[in-house]
Order: sequence, then C-alpha cells, then structure tokens
Amino acid sequence: MVHQQLEMRGLREARVLTAMRVVPRHLFVEPAQQGLAYADEPLPIGEDQTISQPYMVARMLEAAAVGPHDRVLEVGTGSGYSAAVTSLLCQHVYSVERHESLARQATERLARLGYSNVSVQHADGTLGWVENALYDVVLVPAAPPTIPLALLDQLVIGGRLVIPVGQPSHQRLVRVTRRDRHEFEQQALEWVRFVPLLPGVTHAHAA
Ligand code: SAH
Repeated sequence: MVHQQLEMRGLREARVLTAMRVVPRHLFVEPAQQGLAYADEPLPIGEDQTISQPYMVARMLEAAAVGPHDRVLEVGTGSGYSAAVTSLLCQHVYSVERHESLARQATERLARLGYSNVSVQHADGTLGWVENALYDVVLVPAAPPTIPLALLDQLVIGGRLVIPVGQPSHQRLVRVTRRDRHEFEQQALEWVRFVPLLPGVTHAHAA
C-alpha cells in the first residue's frame, strides 16, 4: 500500500510513510470490508460515511507538515483511522464527529488499540473544538462549500488548515496558513473528492 499508492504518487515525507506502515487499517473497517482494507479507495463505515482513501490521509498530513509537538484538530473522526495515523506524528489529536454512533465506535476502537493521545467528541465540527483551541494544525477530511470561519479562528499564528472545499461532486484541496491575527495565506492543491461536511444541527427556536 505505502509503496504503490503513496511513494509512487510522489509522497516522500518519511514520518508520514512510517505512520502509514504502522497503523493496521484492517482493524478500522467493517468485517465485510476486510479484504479491501488496503485497497486504493475509501470504504463504507455506516451512516453513509467512508474511511478515507489511504493516499488522501497521507497527502493531507504531508500538506499540513504535522510536527511532533503539534496539537491537531480533526473534523470528521469517521472510523478513527486518520486520527490514529495522525496521533503517531504529533502531540495530541482532538477529533470531532457529528454522528453519535461513529464517535462512540471510534472512541472504543482507538482506546482498545492503545492510541492514548487522541480525544474524540460527538459534536458539530464546523464550530471546531473551542475548549482545546488553539491548534497548530486543523485537518478536515470532509468537504464544505466554503471554509468554516471557526476553524480559521482556532489556528495558532503559523498554523495550517488543510481542507477540501467545493461541491459534493468535486472539490479543491486547500491549505490555509495563518500568517497573523487577521492574515491568512491560501494555496490551492489538487482536485479531490470527499464526502460533504454536513452543516451543524439546527435547533427550532420557540417564538
Ligand atoms: N478520516 C476518517 C473518515 C472521514 S469521513 C477516517 O479515516 O475514517 C468524514 C466524516 O466527517 C464522517 O464520519 C462524517 O460523519 C463526519 N462529519 C461530517 N460533517 C461533520 C460535522 N459538521 N462535524 C463533525 N463531523 C462531521
């Protein structure tokens, strides 16, 4: 998987490649998908969601230049796979998942497999995770039509946000670097295809 899907496509960052070799992806997919666990594609994990394609996990980590002392926010825990890989590269991963059942399963799985520097919360990740902000890196493995402002707000100066932005059919992977309090630099990377980042749960207000 690492050689054919990552190195052959130009990924070079040794720390990322090592982490991708170490995390047992077959333990993050459903039993029916075991045979495809190392295939070059996303796979269904229930709730209409997918475990990300291995290449995209590695590509986002390389683009974000995750360092050993970084505190990382992830929006969209899904199976917990990308959180597990990320946890090997940084100090702590704070991961937010909108689907209660996925958040619960990922929490149990990560604890069982010994990933102790990952915290998972069931919440709307378009708001970030305010209690633990600021973050050196924010990773969003799901695509909104526009970048949620709360995620920019929760970056340290020098911090990086890597996020696919666009329509459900196609998106541009974007890296935003916070240069100063009000100054952000945006770089467009390749075209990609992720599941949509769902809007926050709306509450009806009594008149
Ligand atoms: N990287 C994950 C898969 C991410 S799929 C893995 O390796 O398994 C995208 C995830 O984002 C889905 O689980 C989806 O439920 C979640 N999601 C979508 N909108 C969200 C939101 N507003 N807040 C938090 N999570 C969200």
